[in-house]
Amino acid sequence: MQGEFLVPVHSANEFPEKARQVLIRNVYLHDDSSVQSSPLYDVICTNGKVHDVRATSDPTNVENDDTYIRGSIDSEDVEILDAEGKGILVPALCHAHIHLDKCFLLGKSDELVSGDFAEALKVTAQAKGNFPSALEDLYNRGSRLIVESVECGVTAMRAHVEVDETVHMSCLDVGLRLKKDYETICDVQIAVFAQDPLFSAQNAELGDNLILLQNAAARDGVHAVGSAPYVEPSVAQAKRNIRFIFDIACTHGLHADFHLDYTLDRDAEPLIWYVLDELRTRMRTGRWPAGARVCVGHATRLTLFSAEEWAALAHAVHPDGEGLPLALVGLPPSDVYMMARGAQWELARPRGTLDVVRLARVHALPVAMAVNNVENAFTPQGVLDPLALCPLGVALFQSGTRADAARLVVRRSSLICFSRGSLALLDTLNVAGGRDGKCTDRGGHERSPRAASGARGPS
Ligand SMILES: [Zn+2]
Repeated sequence: MQGEFLVPVHSANEFPEKARQVLIRNVYLHDDSSVQSSPLYDVICTNGKVHDVRATSDPTNVENDDTYIRGSIDSEDVEILDAEGKGILVPALCHAHIHLDKCFLLGKSDELVSGDFAEALKVTAQAKGNFPSALEDLYNRGSRLIVESVECGVTAMRAHVEVDETVHMSCLDVGLRLKKDYETICDVQIAVFAQDPLFSAQNAELGDNLILLQNAAARDGVHAVGSAPYVEPSVAQAKRNIRFIFDIACTHGLHADFHLDYTLDRDAEPLIWYVLDELRTRMRTGRWPAGARVCVGHATRLTLFSAEEWAALAHAVHPDGEGLPLALVGLPPSDVYMMARGAQWELARPRGTLDVVRLARVHALPVAMAVNNVENAFTPQGVLDPLALCPLGVALFQSGTRADAARLVVRRSSLICFSRGSLALLDTLNVAGGRDGKCTDRGGHERSPRAASGARGPS
């Protein structure tokens, strides 16, 4: 069982001065097996790695903490977290897809009237117009998102920040500051993102947005570049958008991350095939950066795929097939809010989001689900706790079986993304709210999000 629940990312010689221990007592463990020898465990971490795991009821343990610690680990510098039989220890969580700059925008733009996608784009663009002159607000909203995420057990996130003629580099500048200011409690991976078209609508000429995105992608601290090809005025320009994002990713050695095929229109061409073609071509010609991956978010159009189309996609990405480095991320809070099929269904419009449970179970596809937006026009009801997606997923995917529930959250190939190298201690009485969660950083130190919040402000 040792090391089962922590993927170490540090070697011992990164902590040369003195061994440092964290003892987590009386805790339930993340485990997908139905048989455990004890309901509660004590977990001993040394220098950021799980050193030992013992049943709390083990007769070799004693009630006296000092004796127990001296007999178990070799250090005077021991930090003790006592879960008191009310907490569960899990690998820390990861936001696979979240917007750092567009969170908590309700009330900062016009009231929603129709609640539809066009209105969301319009009122968000309106709010974005204020970003460059409201940097403190931009920082504070991003700070709140990071701190409240850490309180939910999140220690890593792919954070999209927009770059365009409206916001210029303001979202990126603030995102990079937040990344640095919170680096001890959360790994904020910055993805520069073009929500707006890269082409001017009338003449298909390249717009200034592309130049800005190219410059943004060259900045230190940026790990991914992405776009929303569906905002381009034609399929041809959407494909050019995709090619440009791939070119930027190749030039700067970045991951690519697309908001793609965000429709339930069966007549719309699924651009996932074009993305795969472009990726395939670059890999064959040696232009794709080593280790870089492609992420495709939303992809609701794929919910209309036939079994043959899913099999073809699975073959393209599965290690036993072509092994192309592409993964899908369903974003159910936004998808089910925005995606409804056709006016003819006015009184009972079917809604769509990727059925990540069946895609993992039937096609073994690399899939995840993530939060995307929190309290903005695209997802007014959004909450930022990744575990809150699980009860939603049980209903959406009819996943009430023990196996599906395990697939949603507790297996290593879980559909909720875990963060490598960190643990999260969650209060089992308040998992959905997650407000009493504690996290360890990659050195095994407990981190208090509240303390982090208070310690840093806009600078
Ligand atoms: Zn998004």
